Amino acid sequence: MSSLRITEIFHSLQGETRTVGLPTVFVRLTGCPLRCHYCDTAYAFTGGTSMALADIVEQVASYQAHYVTVTGGEPLAQKNCLTLLSTLCDQGYEVSLETSGAITLEGVDPRVVKVMDIKTPASGEAAKNRWENLALLDSKDQLKAVICSRDDYEWFRDIAEVHGLFERCEVLISPSHTELKPRELAEWVLEDRLPVRFQLQLHKYLWNDEPGH
Ligand code: SF4
Repeated sequence: MSSLRITEIFHSLQGETRTVGLPTVFVRLTGCPLRCHYCDTAYAFTGGTSMALADIVEQVASYQAHYVTVTGGEPLAQKNCLTLLSTLCDQGYEVSLETSGAITLEGVDPRVVKVMDIKTPASGEAAKNRWENLALLDSKDQLKAVICSRDDYEWFRDIAEVHGLFERCEVLISPSHTELKPRELAEWVLEDRLPVRFQLQLHKYLWNDEPGH
């Protein structure tokens, strides 16, 4: 039977993306090969509990939500993640996947909304961006950049042009919570007429990064 290592499964409000504010079940898989310096889920790097796929699905169902987000860590680091995603889609949920962009998206069920990070230089992990993943995104998917500084912003603006990011799918941009004032980033976006969705991470304001939210 398929199993996955799980850090937590919880019911909360979606903190970002196009479904921000909607009640959502989060399935947080354990493990990540990256070490972004601003990571707010380092508690998911190790540990966790091995759970059978059927038990994960049962716990998700107990919250009676329409939206399910599979996150991490880096969920695609566990190969059974692909089975979990398809199983949740089969159950009728609207499923999204939060991924660092450092692992191939090949094999992800086409019904899943992919939310893929673009890692900036200040994250410390920009070398892990797999640009070939861009070709596997479609119009329902979203790209997400966390910006730490003006240098980061300019890098992102240039890379967006080079890779045609704005033509591929919706692009989300947010300030690194402790490093950049939201207003500064908002003003840069407006000055440059950048066609992005500016977002703040709602869960940080509501729950201050406590696990389980
Ligand atoms: S990819 Fe995500 S979980 Fe992994 S270190 Fe970076 S922010 Fe943390």
